[in-house]
Amino acid sequence: MKKLEDKISKNGKVLSDQILKVDSFLNHQIDPVLMQEIGNEFAEKFKGEGITKIVTLESSGIAPAMMTGLVLGVPVVFARKRKSLTLINELYSASVHSFTKEEKNEISVSKDYLSQDDHVLLIDDFLANGQAVEGLLSIVEQAGASLAGVGIVIEKGFQPGGEMIRNRGIRVESLAIIQSLENGKVSFAEGSTL
Ligand code: 5GP
Repeated sequence: MKKLEDKISKNGKVLSDQILKVDSFLNHQIDPVLMQEIGNEFAEKFKGEGITKIVTLESSGIAPAMMTGLVLGVPVVFARKRKSLTLINELYSASVHSFTKEEKNEISVSKDYLSQDDHVLLIDDFLANGQAVEGLLSIVEQAGASLAGVGIVIEKGFQPGGEMIRNRGIRVESLAIIQSLENGKVSFAEGSTL
């Protein structure tokens, strides 16, 4: 997605060879116009798939997921990173190692909002080692729901998550794929633009 790549090139900050900071439009301040276009892109890619629900992870997945849900006309459920222990029997849960915070988070979704009748599109802001997506996949599986695919705003193609998930036969659509962050410079993978 050309507009997203331009935004990353202009406003993204390369913190290291591994980490890109996009706080100015995705992870802290949010650019609603760009999010709307991101929602349109995901919706265009997955329309006609019979999606009944979008599932994401708080907090940075919510904005792109919301915009996609708005276009597709389906609810958006975000997995929470904390849970109330008293509600444990009513939750689907998974353990996720956070790439940026280097800590383990228990993520959970209420059984009220995901069931075997759902056909799910997973959305997240970044794909790195694939831990967040794996956790969300586990939640979808626990619910007995089916999966249409995974939509990622920014995939870091030099990290193993994308290959790992695609190798499982899962459709992954990333709107920007970064090939390298070396020398403080963002390089995009060939053909990742639309
Ligand atoms: P994974 O679980 O695929 O290793 O990492 C994905 C999660 O880590 C995303 O939900 C995102 O919050 C965070 N993340 C991974 N890499 C980056 C990065 O380069 N920049 C930012 N801002 N977040 C990242």
